[in-house]
Amino acid sequence: MSIKQNLLNIKSALPEHVTLVAVSKTKPISDLMEAYDAGQRIFGENKIQEMTEKWEAMPKDIEWHMIGHVQTNKVKFMAPFVSLIHGVDGLKLLEEINKQAQKNDRIIDCLFQIHIAEEETKFGLNEKELNEILYSATFHEMKNIRIVGLMGMATFTDNQEQIKKEFTHLKTIFDTTNQLLTSNFQLLTLSMGMSGDYKLAIECGSTMVRIGSSIFGNR
Ligand SMILES: *Cc1c(COP(=O)(O)O)cnc(C)c1O
Repeated sequence: MSIKQNLLNIKSALPEHVTLVAVSKTKPISDLMEAYDAGQRIFGENKIQEMTEKWEAMPKDIEWHMIGHVQTNKVKFMAPFVSLIHGVDGLKLLEEINKQAQKNDRIIDCLFQIHIAEEETKFGLNEKELNEILYSATFHEMKNIRIVGLMGMATFTDNQEQIKKEFTHLKTIFDTTNQLLTSNFQLLTLSMGMSGDYKLAIECGSTMVRIGSSIFGNR
């Protein structure tokens, strides 16, 4: 099926409160333009350089989401234009995002990535680390970032019960963390679910799905 048809099929099946991020990493601009022409305006990339090149070449009404692991020294390249950074997993990184956002006279929206998978290899904060950040003075003083939600990736497995358990865990953290009264923190977005597990993620409370291969084909 065509990219356009894949996209329309997925979109028509998503509940209204769920936002679709079309994950276009490794794909050529012609593929992204096909999705753009079919109405898609939110794209997710996992490498800052690749995202920046695509941003330069493509229409400027696109929202670019950084969904990959972020290296602190590369934040400056995306700070002028990125609209949501999904993978924030430490205070140092957040401080750099805040600094670069300030230089660009912007407020950059971010999600905290939470480690929910069994696999050690996946990135993310555990609950203790999350709370340490939330209750730190450094965090409260940051004026050029806004934490608007949480992101997580489930274990790569066929075991639906396992995936469900992990998504439900993240939803619980999402529901119980949202009581801080600071201006830079309000959890609205729960980013969970990819091509293989987004339906389950939505059942578990996801409000934002990151779908690549089901739209653009295998990488
Ligand atoms: C690649 C990627 C996706 C999309 O994966 P698909 O299985 O192709 O849908 C989603 N989230 C993150 C963080 C990714 O790196």
